[in-house]
Amino acid sequence: MKKHIVVIAGDGIGQEVTAVGKQVLDAIAKKYNHEFTYDTALIGHAAIEATGSPLPDETITKSKASDAILFGAVGHPKYDNDPSAKVRPEQGLLGIRKALGLYANLRPIKLFDELLSASSIKPEILKGADILFFRELTGDVYFGERGRTDDGNTAYDTMIYSRYEVERIAIKAFDAAMTRRKKLCSVDKANVLESSRLWRGVVQEIATRYPEVEVEHQFVDAAAMLLIKDPKRFDVVVTGNLFGDILTDEASQIAGSMGMLASASIGDTTGLYEPIHGSAHDITGKGVANPLASVLSVALMLDISFGMKAEADTVVNAIDAVLKAGFRTRDIADVNTPADKLLGTEQMGYQLLQQLIA
Ligand code: NAD
Repeated sequence: MKKHIVVIAGDGIGQEVTAVGKQVLDAIAKKYNHEFTYDTALIGHAAIEATGSPLPDETITKSKASDAILFGAVGHPKYDNDPSAKVRPEQGLLGIRKALGLYANLRPIKLFDELLSASSIKPEILKGADILFFRELTGDVYFGERGRTDDGNTAYDTMIYSRYEVERIAIKAFDAAMTRRKKLCSVDKANVLESSRLWRGVVQEIATRYPEVEVEHQFVDAAAMLLIKDPKRFDVVVTGNLFGDILTDEASQIAGSMGMLASASIGDTTGLYEPIHGSAHDITGKGVANPLASVLSVALMLDISFGMKAEADTVVNAIDAVLKAGFRTRDIADVNTPADKLLGTEQMGYQLLQQLIA
């Protein structure tokens, strides 16, 4: 099969981990006789430096013409403590999601058994947890009207959702639930927020089309607590942009580390695949970033955008084998990890490739 992939590595460790993701794509192409061609494009701080814009038009054009996008991360310390900056790296990511109509962010949360001890949650609570988050991506406070009063002392961001936005992500989430354990939890704050009351009503309407799916509604505060108390109770979770942003970072602890979580942003056209972590300035350039979230993003791309289920399983199995062999990056290591099994980003990539060509 021929596929054209745009690699948008972005900033910080995005560059380091995406390089490993691309190596894995190459190895899969070779193993299964596919032809993957690549283009690169700029985003975030790297794009601001080169063009003045966090999302150059060329990046959108190349992305629209591709079969899938492998994305790294955006962000730079320069902007994190400067709320007054008008042009910001994150605008690149929000902009590309909007430009490509990527309204659903899928985040599978599953712990590799080998990493049970890497989480700060008790193993008996974690073992067997397998959650698929659907985070809405193009609405909510991130895109609602915002501003400040003239004196600058009052600021507002508007949480806004329209029926069609809730309907389309709810349908994707219910469809996924039908292929899994047929349980769906919708998370909102309907006891307080009007946009959440619309959200809940629409999800209830869509639910009538899926009588086999057991549906529950949780307030976001309760959901945050239940995720840690009893993660196994969840199968598919569907929620808005802000609540999803926060809950999926929390859920990263179920998977052991931010470095182990991948996501797929999909709409009706080209899909974008990225780790959930950011540009991690604290470890940028040190060669210690965990590349496995990027590699898991590759697995999602193969499965969702290319329909290559066997190839996706091969990637996940290679990760499993490397972890079973005891190899760890710093973020998923523990006191029992021997020094010779503690790997940097490139070394972890090398071990994966050894598994893939075996
Ligand atoms: P972060 O995800 O970059 O890092 C949080 C912590 O997790 C850090 O201690 C980091 O070292 C660690 N970490 C993250 N990924 C790792 C990996 N692959 N391997 C090992 N350790 C890893 O979040 P942050 O520190 O809050 O933000 C840093 C920058 O990234 C900011 O500029 C922020 O705006 C941006 N950001 C971008 C995205 C994105 O591009 N999707 C997401 C979140 C944050």
